[in-house]
Amino acid sequence: MASDFLEIIEVSPRDGIQNEQVLLSTGQKLDLIGRAIAAGLRRLEVTSFVNPARVPQMADADAVCAGLPGGAARHIGLTLNARGFQRAVAAGLDEANFVVVASETFNRRNQGVGTFDSIAALAGLKAEAPHSIALGVTIGAAFGCPFEGEVPLARLMQVVEGVMAQAPAELALADTIGVATPRDIAERVAAVRAAFPDVPLRLHLHNTRNTGIANAWAGIEAGVRRLDASLGGTGGCPFAPRATGNIATEDLVYMLDRSGIGTGVDLDAAIRAAEWLEAQLGHGVPGQVMKAGGFPAPRAA
Ligand code: ZN
Repeated sequence: MASDFLEIIEVSPRDGIQNEQVLLSTGQKLDLIGRAIAAGLRRLEVTSFVNPARVPQMADADAVCAGLPGGAARHIGLTLNARGFQRAVAAGLDEANFVVVASETFNRRNQGVGTFDSIAALAGLKAEAPHSIALGVTIGAAFGCPFEGEVPLARLMQVVEGVMAQAPAELALADTIGVATPRDIAERVAAVRAAFPDVPLRLHLHNTRNTGIANAWAGIEAGVRRLDASLGGTGGCPFAPRATGNIATEDLVYMLDRSGIGTGVDLDAAIRAAEWLEAQLGHGVPGQVMKAGGFPAPRAA
C-alpha cells in the first residue's frame, strides 16, 4: 500500500449544512470552521457562491469569508459559474472549486446550462484567474445521475478531457448521490489516472447507500490521497432528490488511524466537533464513531 498520509478536505461548512432546514448563523459557521481547524483539518470548503434564492443556507458566503481565521488552513469556495468565481476571488479565498456535472440534465438543473457550456465558462475564467487563487474542478455525478441514471464511463471521460484541457490545479470526482461501489471507484479512478497521471485526484463521496467508507478505501487503494468528508456525516445536495450525507470525517479518521495512514486530525477533537454540529442542527446526524467512540477508549484524566 501506498504512502502513509492522506489529506482530508472538510466540507461540513458547505456541503454539510447546505441541505439543512435549520439555517446556521454566520457566527455558528465560523465556530464550526474554527472547531474543524482546531481538530487538525487544514483544508476546508468554507462556503459556496450560489444564488441565495436557491440555496438560502449559503446566503452569507461573503460574510463567512470576511470572518475566516488567517493562517493555519486553506479555504475553498465552491462556484458554479463565472460570477461565483469572481466572488471567490473578491473574498480572498485560497482556492475556488468549480463544478461541472457529468450528466447533461443534472448540469442544467444545477447551473442552468449544459455540461460543455460550463466547461466553456471554466475556460473563460481560467484565462483571467489571478495567481492568488488556485482553481480546482469537481465533476459532479461522476458515478451516476439522479435524472439520467447510469453515467457511462465514456461520457465521464469526455467530460474529464474537456476539463483537463483547462489544466485545473486538482480534479475531484464526486459521487453526488451516493451510488458508487468500490469496483466503480477502482475503475473510474484508474481510467482517469491512466489518461492524466499528473493531476492530483480527489474524491467526494456520499454515503447514501452505505458504500461511502468502502468507496473511500477503494479510492486509497487506487492511489487517491485527497478525500472530502464532513463532520458527523452531514451533507446533501439541494438539487438532487433524496441526497444524503457525506462520509463522516471522524469515521474516516478512525479507519485511517487504525490503518496506519496519517491525516493530522485528532479523532477526539473531531468527534467533539461533530457532536457540537449535531447540537446546532437539532437532530441526530449519521456519523457512527461519534456514537461509539474511538478504540481503545481514551483513558479518563
Ligand atoms: Zn456533496
